Amino acid sequence: MERRDFIKLTAVTGTTAALTACGNPEHQLIRFVPDDDIVPGIAEWKPSVCPLCRAGCGLTVRVLDADFETTRKGQAGVVAVKAAKKLEGQPAHPVNHGGLCVRGQAAIQLTYHPDRITTPLKRTGPRGSGEFAPIAWDAAIAELVSQLDRLTDRASLACIARPRRSRRLELVAEFLSRFGAPAPIGFETFDDEVLRRANSTMFGRDQLPTFDLARAELVVSFGADFLGTWNSPVSQNAGFGEMRGRRSRGKLVQIESRMSLSGGSADEWIPVNPGTEGVLALGLAHVVSSKSAKPAAALAEYTPAAVEKITGVRAARIERLGGELAERRPAVAMIGGPALAHTNGLFHALAVNTLNVALGAVQQPGGLFFTPELPSLRAGSGALTRPSAALKNLSAQALVLVDDVNPVFGSPRAWHVAEALAKIPFIVSFGSFIDDTSVNADLLLPDHSFLESWTDSLPESGSLELVANAAPPVMRPLHDTRSTPDVLIEVGGKLKTPVALPWKTYDEMLKASFDKLGANAWDGVEKQGGFWSAAPESRITLHESPRIPNPESQIPNFDGDASAYPLHFLPYASQAFNDGSVAHLPWLQELPDPLTSAMWCSWVEINPQTAAAKKIAEGDIVEISSTQGSIRLPAFVSPGIAPNIVAVPVGQGHGVFTQFASGRGANPIAILAPMAEAETGALAWAATRVKIERVGDANRSLILFAGEMRENPHENETR
Ligand code: SF4
Repeated sequence: MERRDFIKLTAVTGTTAALTACGNPEHQLIRFVPDDDIVPGIAEWKPSVCPLCRAGCGLTVRVLDADFETTRKGQAGVVAVKAAKKLEGQPAHPVNHGGLCVRGQAAIQLTYHPDRITTPLKRTGPRGSGEFAPIAWDAAIAELVSQLDRLTDRASLACIARPRRSRRLELVAEFLSRFGAPAPIGFETFDDEVLRRANSTMFGRDQLPTFDLARAELVVSFGADFLGTWNSPVSQNAGFGEMRGRRSRGKLVQIESRMSLSGGSADEWIPVNPGTEGVLALGLAHVVSSKSAKPAAALAEYTPAAVEKITGVRAARIERLGGELAERRPAVAMIGGPALAHTNGLFHALAVNTLNVALGAVQQPGGLFFTPELPSLRAGSGALTRPSAALKNLSAQALVLVDDVNPVFGSPRAWHVAEALAKIPFIVSFGSFIDDTSVNADLLLPDHSFLESWTDSLPESGSLELVANAAPPVMRPLHDTRSTPDVLIEVGGKLKTPVALPWKTYDEMLKASFDKLGANAWDGVEKQGGFWSAAPESRITLHESPRIPNPESQIPNFDGDASAYPLHFLPYASQAFNDGSVAHLPWLQELPDPLTSAMWCSWVEINPQTAAAKKIAEGDIVEISSTQGSIRLPAFVSPGIAPNIVAVPVGQGHGVFTQFASGRGANPIAILAPMAEAETGALAWAATRVKIERVGDANRSLILFAGEMRENPHENETR
């Protein structure tokens, strides 16, 4: 059935007259499609792709008949639709093997969210006021075309987008390139660019690693919350489950300063001085290599005694763990999260790679691999501009396109992204919600939800098979929205000097790409949401041994004088919201955090020793101050954090982000200093020092599923 036919008022005349007579406004709604056309209760399962993180898990979507209240051409009515009811993991998918994380389960709420933008909007009030009026698509596209046509300098167009590997991003990049604009600016708060650089340097692979956890005997994780939020969590959970379920149960050692979800599952948790993880990795490599031969000259200085002085981990423990690594094979090391987010993050990543080489873990069973990639599909991310400098220079742009990212929320206030956006003459957002960034847009052109449109992604890790995701829509659009790639294709064709993209639609582009993979690749897209196959193994060759400087030169830099700002500050990806982009989903607000049981709020984690010194009790309001500003949050007193650190989950603290997330909690990213990793320029989000003060009594802003500690005083005694 054509969309036009679908919304045709097939049963208007008689039905409306009859229902109006009821007097109940609810019954005045019109059924756009007659009941006779609907066979209720028969479910179909359709493939799709989870859009919420880079892991790119495959989905199967349960689709059933449903009624949906909507407005068509100003007329309220009921549409009978095939509606997605439940998301499950795609059992055949090589990344998630039928599993989904909690965020993936909640992704269905993106489609049915009550605050979705349902039609194009044009700004009517001052910037940031949130005053918009609906506008027809034809007028909206004409407006964008005229704004692009007025650019005398075509390089003054910029686009900020998620730096995901996808054909969709490739289409955006192609549009910009043919227009004469710079490559898209990739923005993501928790960016793993430092690790990609390290892997590129040592292994010739500019991607995140895939771990063969199922066959590992011993895993040492340097800060990587691989069971919660880092890299490909569903795939890693599956591997970890197998590793734990074996008769010879594998062991996990987690090295970090604040206990993550992975740390909570570890056999051994080792707190380490922030910014010294690489030194510890080289200390372990020293012990491992000394068991079989004389340690390499570059490792000679990393004796357990020297490493203890820097890392705070006792020499005897380093000796013992190094010995265990040498004997208990296969063993593998991983690094992620805050360990990469110091000013010397690249050093840590290279050091962990060095440890993996010493362990013989590279491309060996139970070790580290890279998901095979096809150059014909590998694009998009290669054309990205890194964000820090580009965002600072935004105000040089005359027109900015924002594609489903929220850099105002996700950047340190010190980057002045909001101020840069304020100077842009015209901003267009393609997002589905009004958030901290899109509230500043002049024109909002809402995209379909991922369930209503073609979708694609290229998982860079989590599978030993080649995998390329793409799937058709599972349901018709509920609202007056349009697929952003198709809008760009249409706009390109209407410009005075047209941008002629080689495809008429986004799905035509996808088909052209997948046809290159083989005769049956497109069948896989339609039947299972992608194409995967055992690709010929591409051997990893060690490109370069890292230059390993002496331990003393590996001291990280921190913003804030230690005497005035005595504590390290750790904003971390939360289990529910990750980087905050899904804080508007009520299921995730309702989700008790697995380590604290907190929900609908944010909090600051403080070690009991530090809390006692500052006379801070559970729930008390604490002000956290850096050189860049301060935030106030209720305290959660926890032994799972080192005394010299305080930590805050990222996700809450949005100024504007639907009725569920606006004005809730505080955003720790805002008070970060603009510190950068020395060699890659990536945001060093773990390099800020803070001080804390108790500024108020508990006011019930700490909402714990488990109840407040003062209701369970005996628990306070054990904490
Ligand atoms: S890890 Fe979770 S959020 Fe990421 S793609 Fe998989 S299901 Fe979606």
